[in-house]
Amino acid sequence: MKSIVKNVSWDVALQSHKCKRNLKHIIAKGDRRLKIKEGRSESHYCVQCAEMILKSGLSKINSLIDNL
Ligand SMILES: [Zn+2]
Repeated sequence: MKSIVKNVSWDVALQSHKCKRNLKHIIAKGDRRLKIKEGRSESHYCVQCAEMILKSGLSKINSLIDNL
């Protein structure tokens, strides 16, 4: 079965870097981050942005279910 969220997972930052969604957000080495694969590249988001991204995805999915 095709999954629409197969490209999304949690991982851990191996080194400190900026969040892809907001460059003011710093993900520290060892922090959990949301990993989203887009084609051959990967984007990483801090937990704060991950929550918004996941909730916005969920509301999109819910609206699709509502229209079954
Ligand atoms: Zn962020």
